[in-house]
Order: sequence, then C-alpha cells, then structure tokens
Amino acid sequence: MQLIDSHCHLDDARFDRDRDAVLERALLLGIDQFVVPAVVASDWPRLKSLAESYANIHPAYGLHPWFCEQHKPEDLTLLSQYLQHAKAVGECGLDAMRKGVSMDDQLFWFRAQVTLAIAFDLPLIVHAVKSVDLVVAVLKDFPEAKGVIHSFYGSSQQADAVIEQGFYLGIGSAVTYARNSRFRQVVETLPLEMLMLETDAPDQASASHRGERNEPSFLLETLHAVATIQSKPTDAVASICNANARELFNL
Ligand SMILES: [Zn+2]
Repeated sequence: MQLIDSHCHLDDARFDRDRDAVLERALLLGIDQFVVPAVVASDWPRLKSLAESYANIHPAYGLHPWFCEQHKPEDLTLLSQYLQHAKAVGECGLDAMRKGVSMDDQLFWFRAQVTLAIAFDLPLIVHAVKSVDLVVAVLKDFPEAKGVIHSFYGSSQQADAVIEQGFYLGIGSAVTYARNSRFRQVVETLPLEMLMLETDAPDQASASHRGERNEPSFLLETLHAVATIQSKPTDAVASICNANARELFNL
C-alpha cells in the first residue's frame, strides 16, 4: 500500500529533533509522500530548504488566517516567487472561531491567494473552520479555482456544496473519534473520488494517540476509519484517495 499524507506540517519545530525518524516510521507503513503547507512568510525559506533536501516533501506556500496580523502586502509579491516551485497555495482560508482576527482581513488575504492560485494554475489548500459556507461563497466568485478543504468537518449539505465547486474534502483524524458520530455519518456517504487523507501533524492526533504529537505514520488510523465507516476495502480507499491527491497536486 502506498499512501500520501495530503496535509502535514513537517516543517514545524516540533519535528526538529527527530524529523528523519518520523519520516522513517511513515515510510515503513507505505506513507511515502507528504504535502507540507507553510502558514506565514517567515516560514517559507525553511520549508523551501526542507523540500530541497527531501524529494518526497511537496511544499505549499500560503498565508494562514490565524496570522493576519503578521501578513504584509509585500508577502503577496514574495509568495508569487515561491509559487514558481510549489505544489499548491496554502494554507489559506477562513476561521470564524479565531478570536481577534477580523473576518474582513481574513477575506482579503484569502481572496488574494485564490487569485494567485488561479494565475499560477495551482490548487488551494483551504482552512475552513466554522466557515465552510463562507469559503464556498468566496469560491463561487472564482469558478476556475481548484483545491481541497483541509480537515473538513461539516454537514452533508456543506460537503455537497464543496464538491459542487469542484473541491476535494481532506479527511483528517476527526473521523477516528467515536464521539464525532454525526460527522462519521456524514463521511459514510461521501464519494471516495472527492476525498483525500491527511494528518495535519503535529496537531490533531487520531483517537488512539490523543494528546500526543501527531505524525504522518498515524494516517493509517484515519484510513482504517474511513474504510470501516464506508464498508470498503482499505486498499481501495487508499488507492482512490491517493489518486485524488496525485491528480490535484500533480505528484
Ligand atoms: Zn494545517
């Protein structure tokens, strides 16, 4: 089995002391490709050099909504330089739960990055916390945009709206928690051809690793959860989700 972790922050400082061991544990399980999005301009040079040292780390560069205060207009110019060697634009998006960051500011940076993604013909990696409807409303103004709603956690109706927009749904560890029974019901009927799997490491560890630092090797738990919920063979789920990630990110 070959698996892609379609969203993990391997550039995070929490991996500095044992990054090679983390990668090794993932590789032993067949998880051998990693899409790594950066969230602020000051992180971009580090991710770029990481991607230069590891052929299976695929970089995305973006301006995350949590850090609007740090983003500067000239970051967009710099971003367009980084995008010449990137697999995606992101992590960008909207977060209605983030206190102290105005939605107007978030919308400004998100729209600017959607525009850049279209100009570079790159997919978007979109953070949409309690704001899937708003993200879809923005995307409706940009019919050429493509991408994935990462760590999707919404209703069936929201999933339909995302898919109608041509965007994939990134399924993360939320699906591994029994207590998320409503979301697990949503996942039951999602079309596999619009899903991809992700850890969001080092955050959001899966149920059996609750409270630990998350890492790509934990992706198997998410894979098994999706396969169980959909009553499909694990291999089939893996190969379809992988094909989706390869297609979107041009891997
Ligand atoms: Zn993330």
